[in-house]
This record gives sequence, structure tokens and C-alpha cells, in this order.
Amino acid sequence: MRKNIVAGNWKMNLNRTEGIALVEDVLAKLPSDNNTHVVLAPSFVYLHKVAKMCANTSKVVAAAQDCSANKKGAFTGEVSASMLASCGARYVVLGHSEKRANFAESNEILKTKVGQAFRNDLKVIFCCGESLSQRESGVHFDWIKAQISESLFQLSSEEFKNIVVAYEPIWAIGTGVTASTEQAQEIHAFIRNILVGQYGEEVAENTSILYGGSCKPSNAKELFASQDIDGGLIGGASLSSDDFVKITQSF
Ligand code: PEP
Repeated sequence: MRKNIVAGNWKMNLNRTEGIALVEDVLAKLPSDNNTHVVLAPSFVYLHKVAKMCANTSKVVAAAQDCSANKKGAFTGEVSASMLASCGARYVVLGHSEKRANFAESNEILKTKVGQAFRNDLKVIFCCGESLSQRESGVHFDWIKAQISESLFQLSSEEFKNIVVAYEPIWAIGTGVTASTEQAQEIHAFIRNILVGQYGEEVAENTSILYGGSCKPSNAKELFASQDIDGGLIGGASLSSDDFVKITQSF
């Protein structure tokens, strides 16, 4: 059975004090019978602290928002997957559209990053999604298929069990415009079908596919009720403990 997952991507928000307060609030507000797998992705600089706070509970695990494609060495400013693992990260978010756009991350580079993550026992939340113009010109299915196949299909079926896919239409990220449940479900079913083709029914059925893009308490329930939507990658709404915890309870 695949997991229901809600992951908070804090992006470049919150200072250390604010971040710690948010984790404390989330931990306090999550019900003791919480069945959702909850992930928090803070900035690198206090990932270690967040991971430590989460280590005392089974409620939440920590994630990094990116990792280097390189193992170690003269890469000033980069953070390796091994460093993240040593700081207590359990996941790394890779292929976020902001990283793809602002740092020219290609599918090939992401393939290398996935390799680094796996060599360091980090699970990967792999983001994919199309721009508005790609959707309007009808190339979005091929685009998403290429993003997934070119960065992930080197993995064995066994390795793929450590992949969570996040469908994040770029036009819905941080815009307040959410994909309709039908639009999201259509792409999620398409992604699952691609996985069936590559890895077979069992792996595809066991892969969690998250939706991301202006997901909030008011729309999470309807989105998460869809057959192929197994949770969310949450940006803006993850900065409010009330909103974020409500989203985690929307299944
Ligand atoms: C994101 O950046 O991953 C995201 C989904 O952002 P938001 O929820 O703010 O649209």
C-alpha cells in the first residue's frame, strides 16, 4: 500500500528562530493518531536542528530542498547528499521547477543528483510539471514523461521504491491558481501509467504521487480524494502550522 504523504517546502523562508517555532507548533498540533507521513524541508542551514527535533518523534521527518550533483570537493557553496544524510535528512526534494528554472537543472543533471541521493540512503521527492504555455500547446504529457524517464528510469524496481513523485504544474506554484482536481488526477493517472510501463503494476501502485501548486486547507480534501493523488508538496501553506496540519489531516 502506498503512503499518504504531505511535505512542506519552506523554500527560502523563515529564520532559525521562526523555523524552530514552526516545527514545535507542527509537532504539537499533529494528532497522536496521525496516519499521514509528514515531511518538512527547511533551509540547509537549520536542517540539522529540524532533523534533531523530529528525531524525538515518529510524526515528522526532515528533508533537504536540493543536493549537489557532485560527491565532494571544490564546489564552493554546494551541499552534498552525504552531508545532508549526516545531518539527519531522510529525503531530498529534487527537480523543483524553481531550481530547474533558476539554475538550469536539466534532466541529465537531476539523474546524477538522484544517484548521489541514493548512494547516501536519501529518499527522493522528484518534482515534475509543465508551464502554462506547454499545457496550452498540448506538449505537457510528453514533457512530463521525458522529465521522469530521463532522470529516473536508470533506477531498478527495488531502487524506485525510494522515489516519491510530485506533480507540480508551474502555473499553479505560488500563484493561488490550483489545478482542478480533474486536471491533477489526469496527470497523476498518466504518471502512474508511465510507471506501470517501466516497472509494472506493483511498483506503480506502491509509488506515492503528490500534487503541488497552491494546495491549501480549502482544496486539499478534494484533491486528496482522487484515486491517484496521494498527498501534497506544500509551499506557501506549509509556513502556517494551522494550515499545514489541516492539510495533513485532509485524507
Ligand atoms: C512548491 O513550491 O513546491 C509549491 C507547491 O508552492 P505553493 O504551495 O506555494 O504553490
